[in-house]
Amino acid sequence: MTEKAFQRAKKEEYFRQTYMDSVALGDGARYVRWVRYYGFGDTDNYMITCCPDFSSIPTILVFQKVFKSSMIRREDDLLSLLVDHELIHAKQIYEEKRGRLKKNPIENELEAYRNQLEAIKSNRRYVSPELLEDIERKIKAFESFNS
Ligand SMILES: [Zn+2]
Repeated sequence: MTEKAFQRAKKEEYFRQTYMDSVALGDGARYVRWVRYYGFGDTDNYMITCCPDFSSIPTILVFQKVFKSSMIRREDDLLSLLVDHELIHAKQIYEEKRGRLKKNPIENELEAYRNQLEAIKSNRRYVSPELLEDIERKIKAFESFNS
């Protein structure tokens, strides 16, 4: 959608679901049933991808932390988390449900964080310096777990 709409969603909670519904997911859209704003409670996560047993297409839950964090200032910061990271998880879960591509959780995270970094390095996504730093830190951490 637009930067203006993102800024409005940041300020006005009632607008957040409308805003989430308007975000173009691109090629990843087929891996997601719904992107749902979930405004209750404080969470450690910005968003999670989950797949209830009755459905074979994942849902992404977006928490209020996304709209409150000083790291998520512009729409591209959110798109980095949602499109470049969380959609990778949606695809992973989608494929797993179909008996394909079962990887371990660390490899799953690495794939998602590396995809975020790749979009930034190739100038497809412009994120806040804090978010970039966070992504690089997570990649290092998961790489050290993995070795
Ligand atoms: Zn992740």
